[in-house]
Amino acid sequence: MIIKTAEFICSNTDFKKCPNTEISEFAFIGRSNVGKSSLINMLSKNKKLAKISAKPGKTQLINHFLINKEWYLVDLPGYGWAKVSKTKKEKWGDMTKDYLLYRPNLDCVFVLVDSRLEPQRIDLDFISWIGQNGIPFAIIFTKCDKLSKSKVQSSVALFKRTLLKDWEEMPQYFVSSSADGTGGKEILQFIEEVVNS
Ligand code: GDP
Repeated sequence: MIIKTAEFICSNTDFKKCPNTEISEFAFIGRSNVGKSSLINMLSKNKKLAKISAKPGKTQLINHFLINKEWYLVDLPGYGWAKVSKTKKEKWGDMTKDYLLYRPNLDCVFVLVDSRLEPQRIDLDFISWIGQNGIPFAIIFTKCDKLSKSKVQSSVALFKRTLLKDWEEMPQYFVSSSADGTGGKEILQFIEEVVNS
């Protein structure tokens, strides 16, 4: 898929106010600082579409972008920040969980995981939760340029072994780098196949 247009549509705190549900939607989520904004900008070939923030947990909104006038890319608030109050965290949970549970046109949630880190409890718990709720998802291992190819492979293998304690098979996954573009083509191809299916 070639991205010809990427337009910001709206930001919401309430999923019921999100735009029409007639077109396919793909959401991106992960721990703060995992590289979500950078990946969205890399995929959309727009350096400014999602803001790359120095302060983790800054984006607390559900952001909709219309891609090629054909599908929505949704930037969800990051989870797992330390410096945010409990009330804010609870608000994040309610808002994001409602969106994930009740958005009828959500075709896939991409859960971003930092390829440099050992499997993190917070990511595993989140993956369990979306799996238990039957929400379609795929995993994206980010920042792979920071590791050698073999280190990326062993990091993914460790994540697989950890997940397979609870899952029968490894979900669809991608390895990406916003710095060198790795994985962009594959992720967009996957989206294109779902949009056209
Ligand atoms: P977000 O909080 O998940 O949206 O993360 P950002 O996209 O703001 O990125 C957090 C930090 O990681 C920034 O300093 C980025 O420049 C850096 N970063 C993000 N993606 C990559 C990547 O693929 N490779 C490298 N080397 N750095 C990255």
